[in-house]
Amino acid sequence: MTDAADAKPADHTPAEARPFEADVARLLHMMVHSVYSDRDVFLRELISNAADACEKLRFEAIQTPALLGDDPKPRITISADAEGGHLVVEDNGVGMSADEMVEALGTIARSGTKAFVERVEAAQGKESAQLIGQFGVGFYSAFMVADRVDVVSRRAGSDAATLWSSDGQGTFSVSAVDLADAPARGTRVTLHLNEESKSYAERWTLERIVKAQSGHVPVPISLVEKPGDEPAEIADGAALWTRPKSEISKEEYADFYRSAAGQFDEPAMTIHYRAEGRHEYTALAFVPSTQPFDMFDPERKGRLKLYVKRVFITDDAELLPRYLRFVRGLVDSADLPLNVSREMIQQSPILAAIRKGLTNRVIGDLEKLAENDPATFETVWEAFGQVLKEGVYEDYEKQAQLLALARFRSTASGEGWRSLKSYVADMKENQTAIYYLAGGNPDQLKASPHLEGFRARGVEVLLLSDPVDSFWTTTVQGFEGKPFKSVSQGAADLALIKAEDAEDKPAPETSEAVADFIAFAKATLGDQASDVRASDRLTESAVCLVAPDHGPDRQLEKIMASAGRAGAGSKPVLEINPTHALVTALAKVGAEEAGFREDAVALLFDEAKILDGERPADPKAFSGRLARVLERALR
Ligand code: ADP
Ligand code: MG
Repeated sequence: MTDAADAKPADHTPAEARPFEADVARLLHMMVHSVYSDRDVFLRELISNAADACEKLRFEAIQTPALLGDDPKPRITISADAEGGHLVVEDNGVGMSADEMVEALGTIARSGTKAFVERVEAAQGKESAQLIGQFGVGFYSAFMVADRVDVVSRRAGSDAATLWSSDGQGTFSVSAVDLADAPARGTRVTLHLNEESKSYAERWTLERIVKAQSGHVPVPISLVEKPGDEPAEIADGAALWTRPKSEISKEEYADFYRSAAGQFDEPAMTIHYRAEGRHEYTALAFVPSTQPFDMFDPERKGRLKLYVKRVFITDDAELLPRYLRFVRGLVDSADLPLNVSREMIQQSPILAAIRKGLTNRVIGDLEKLAENDPATFETVWEAFGQVLKEGVYEDYEKQAQLLALARFRSTASGEGWRSLKSYVADMKENQTAIYYLAGGNPDQLKASPHLEGFRARGVEVLLLSDPVDSFWTTTVQGFEGKPFKSVSQGAADLALIKAEDAEDKPAPETSEAVADFIAFAKATLGDQASDVRASDRLTESAVCLVAPDHGPDRQLEKIMASAGRAGAGSKPVLEINPTHALVTALAKVGAEEAGFREDAVALLFDEAKILDGERPADPKAFSGRLARVLERALR
């Protein structure tokens, strides 16, 4: 005596109301009574259970092929009934016996859930909704959108079917059900949608959620738009990353990259591997070939998705360090529990192991790319070098590797790039340091007077124009035992390195008159400069400013100042080229012309500032001096 249109208990087993286990009751109470911002997750949970059931059957059928009967292909079907306000999620997976249903849908076996319930109860409103979204609370999340949930299930190989039913209000009932009202195998979950959730019976909503959250579940998903319609496939069940690398074409990788990462370019590098052993996971990651617009947004997080057994969990897990935040793709873990919270994820030793493994892999593959395909590596470096260099001071352990990967413009690079390895290999006799000049603009750097003495001696200088350069250069000890040294800081110390065109003539002595002039300049500038001295780094310009030996590089100071973090504001050193015609001429001006000499010193100081991309401290005084000096010249 059964009604085929509606699943009712067969009359020999009257449905008896049973209480939920206390923790389930609390969880359900929250589901029903809190305000949720993102209820979409319920579908992900039901689909993931359906997919799990198909995977379990696949596994059991290895031993007992008969379980598959004449229906070997796993499938998930979502049927919408907008008019009736129903949503059905059905699978042909392993199904549940009556006892299994009571156990699975009446208790909370998972240990983390109890703690979760306590946390959500302690949190309020919106926050608790977020927690649920991040956590994934499994089957019970159905009660966020339904007043009543009916589950009819038939265990594979069994000739009994069971109906589980509940309104989420503290009790559920279980009863036998006629086979005609049950799926031939597997589970049918029927949601009687509540007033606020009717849109979940609409095709577009369903399709959107499935594509966004479950598109890579390893079971095909079909949608029946309204009762009587044919099912239409909306996800093909192919999780690309689970297939062997050798069977995946370059185009398939690129398509997947573009759809999964929302990119439009070609990946510059594809990393696909399965880690086995202590931690089992698959990673499919891509390095884009173009820089996304928000690369330097401080809020920008990584863009790697975390899956657990092919079910999407979060794109918020820090699967790579910040300096690899340009990498797109996913990690699919076989070890993490599906109902893991974001906080638990971040503290999980499994995640730490994945992070370590993946970081090593990405850096290792970049090293290989640099070795085997320098042109492609250079496009990666052009797009993401600035970000990678953050790792030089953020990740001490990887510092040497990242420095070896780094590419630089230099006085010897032309339009190309130089590595530190090639720099060190080409160092001059007696050269002990890796020289660099940091500044805001590559063209200004190339024209800097600081480079003159180095150019004359053929000593290569790295030209560092990324803001991050001023940071790593101050924290790094060196590369292959050679320290980094700014050419705009301290004494240049070039005396030991032979000039390229020098016919072995000794560096010209600073004449007594010039020495007197330098002493006069020092006295005139007073505390505007921390020192005034003869320079061995200048060959063409008369003057330049350098930072004192000890203290921050001038470029770093400027960056700090523009970030509102003014440091001690150390005074620069004015270096004067003792062989420059202007300097030797000024040295000859008599002491009686003190006013002119003072003007000249102040102008030289301002000139050095201008060469450094700064402005004269006092424009009015500057133009007054300039006028007086020109006037004298015209006398
Ligand atoms: P989890 O999936 O993390 O175990 P859920 O709350 O989502 O937690 O589901 C609880 C249990 O209910 C599952 O472990 C499974 O045993 C059972 N279950 C839920 N949905 C299905 C289904 N469609 N087919 C078979 N078993 C299911
Ligand atoms: Mg589940």
